[in-house]
Amino acid sequence: MPAVLIAGGGPAGLAASIALAERKVPVTVVDPSGAAAETRGELLAHGAAQIVRRLGLSHVLTDALLISDVVSHWGAAGLQSHGAHPGLGLHGWGIDRRALAKAMRERALDLGVTLHKARVAQSHPSETGWRVMVKTPVGTETRHADYVIDATGRPAHIARRQQATVLHGPALVAVLWQLGAPQHATMQAEAAPNGWWYMVPHKTGGTVGFVTDAATAKRISASPTAFLDSVKDTLSLVSLNGISTPPWSMDCRSAALDHTSGAGWLATGDAAAAFDPITSQGLFNALSAGFFAGNAAADAISGDAEAPKVYDALLTRTVERTHATTHLQYAALPFDTPFWRHHARAGLEKSKTSAVPA
Ligand SMILES: Cc1cc2nc3c(=O)[nH]c(=O)nc-3n(C[C@H](O)[C@H](O)[C@H](O)COP(=O)(O)OP(=O)(O)OC[C@H]3O[C@@H](n4cnc5c(N)ncnc54)[C@H](O)[C@@H]3O)c2cc1C
Repeated sequence: MPAVLIAGGGPAGLAASIALAERKVPVTVVDPSGAAAETRGELLAHGAAQIVRRLGLSHVLTDALLISDVVSHWGAAGLQSHGAHPGLGLHGWGIDRRALAKAMRERALDLGVTLHKARVAQSHPSETGWRVMVKTPVGTETRHADYVIDATGRPAHIARRQQATVLHGPALVAVLWQLGAPQHATMQAEAAPNGWWYMVPHKTGGTVGFVTDAATAKRISASPTAFLDSVKDTLSLVSLNGISTPPWSMDCRSAALDHTSGAGWLATGDAAAAFDPITSQGLFNALSAGFFAGNAAADAISGDAEAPKVYDALLTRTVERTHATTHLQYAALPFDTPFWRHHARAGLEKSKTSAVPA
């Protein structure tokens, strides 16, 4: 039976591995982080419930914090309590990414997936499949695979080396702080002149994030305490009490590949399409696209060459719909500043930084 190698063991890669293993395809997931996913609060949109159950992960929902309300302070719109949120629907779940990773890894292992702690360094297609060079904690190995799935997240490590181009939205960076104590089951969002704050609670804590431009994020990282002191009295909703420092930063701009599959490979999750966190779409997309990517790969190795094209078309439609409306969430212009004006009219474009590093 042909074998599949998945680069990346985040939600998308593990969802793909579950789909492949259910179809009895031998599958190895290669990821350098092993079992140790970080604690981070994220909001799982309510529409994701069905795919979570389909992946055999119902307990992830019962173990998560059900979020019944989103409270926002969005400039002139003032304080609002939304039972619903544009990207969220009626409610969602506050998920700790570490708990999600643990549940997904256990499910994959139960189905016979091989999890390999290593980083994909090089991947070369050949007439007999793929030669994939991986770096483990103790050295370098070469692995053979008949098909590869790129689930490496935003780096899109394999797809970019297969001549796929990443289109990016405007620079957007999240600066994140951890909350150690359990929070009330309400998500908060608050606009500021040069970005927006959010707090996502989960069962054992939560995460506070400030989403801003790259230059501001760099300034915050250089002196986080001074920054917190300067903003703490300006916030009317999100509380900075109990956050642990230092913060860490993550790229969170919108991105999409110009094509998500080619001969013997396909890309999924953030590697194929990444969404601004204001959409609350990323996890839903990673789980569902991962599941469909796994099935498309299983079909392709059984001789159905059309399957990756159908997958590509589905993903393209999702990307078009989401990216076409993302900027509207900034268009309320809670502050008439360059940050808000820029994001209110932004779209995707080919980035100068999308070239594969030598
Ligand atoms: C600040 C922030 C807040 C967010 N908030 C939300 C939210 O509230 N709700 C929501 O739905 N979404 C949210 N998202 C989006 C969500 O986190 C992503 O969409 C989701 O993590 C995508 O999953 P993935 O598996 O595609 O990628 P990732 O989670 O990035 O996983 C990629 C994996 O690939 C591995 N990897 C990388 N390079 C290699 C390599 N060369 N070889 C092998 N493995 C490799 C990494 O170690 C990692 O484990 C947020 C994103 C950010 C940045």
